[in-house]
Amino acid sequence: MNDIARFTLQNPTQHNAKSAAIEQSIPVFYCPKMVADAASFSPSAGKPALVVESWKALGVPIEFREPQPVSVEQFSLAHAPKFVADVLHGRRENGFGNRLPAVAATLPYTSGVMLSAAREALNNHQGAVAPCSGFHHAGYDFAGGFCTFNGLMVTVTVLLAEGLVSKVGILDCDQHWGNGTDDIIDRLHLQDQVVHYGPTREFGTPARAEAFLANIQQILDLFRDCDLVLYQAGADPHIDDPLGGWLTTEQLYQRDREVLMGLRLLGIPVAWNLAGGYQRDENDSIRPVLDIHDNTFLAFAEVYVDAASADSNLESPMASSVIRPLQGSVKSSCTISMHPCVRRSALTSLLTQAKTIHK
Ligand SMILES: [Zn+2]
Repeated sequence: MNDIARFTLQNPTQHNAKSAAIEQSIPVFYCPKMVADAASFSPSAGKPALVVESWKALGVPIEFREPQPVSVEQFSLAHAPKFVADVLHGRRENGFGNRLPAVAATLPYTSGVMLSAAREALNNHQGAVAPCSGFHHAGYDFAGGFCTFNGLMVTVTVLLAEGLVSKVGILDCDQHWGNGTDDIIDRLHLQDQVVHYGPTREFGTPARAEAFLANIQQILDLFRDCDLVLYQAGADPHIDDPLGGWLTTEQLYQRDREVLMGLRLLGIPVAWNLAGGYQRDENDSIRPVLDIHDNTFLAFAEVYVDAASADSNLESPMASSVIRPLQGSVKSSCTISMHPCVRRSALTSLLTQAKTIHK
């Protein structure tokens, strides 16, 4: 029996009537207050606006939601209170190595987008999108590597404190290890409440790329008893990334599809974000990074729409609609996923599917 069929049989009722309420539009949490020029090699502080514009151009229905900013008290659940205060008041350098007030002003929103998307994922039992990055190198009382506050662990600690979750998974598919995430887990003794995994240390060479893709369902098994997964769909594992890399564009797309479909089959809501990505084209544009994020968004939309389709038609078991793309067309979809026409082809297929659902 293959893994997908196994997941389906073990979770035949995970997707109950609650998920039928899902809107077909993709929930994306965004506001301009999360964007700044950090005067850094990393584009991450300015990236959300560019990513959102790129997603709008894909033509997929998006429902933009306003994030709730994270409060000082909420930051202080995951970080040392003095560290939080010092960064926010410019007494200490942020993760970009400067003290720019404009960057400090974005921080409650950057983490707020992650927390808000997680809340929405728990609410709709499927998922939501957080076009943010710059989290996983931030530890309990330190910033670094373009990361100031750890929005992943802020999200985890807030949801734990509110009793909304008992265990959360962090699937960190950025190229780099989340040392800050580990630090906070250790300092706060959250080993039993957080499952933290990143594939690069185990698989991170081109020679191991296919093995990684073949093992995604086994990796997702780590999160089987989690109430929520935070998925960092990093673009810097790309083989051409200056800080990468080991996966091609097609392999990154396959990674995203298998992760998102696998979580769907496990019945685990997902809030996903952007994480790293540092490629630039000949015009010094981050278009290559945006293309990767576009593909993640399309992969999510495909799963999300497929889920809505299955839940709205009890005659058509969810399993068959989800198994089909995994078993039958991932390779061909990946082949057509080369930009930009790939993205157009995938979109055409998506919108055709969406129209069918609307009938
Ligand atoms: Zn990275």
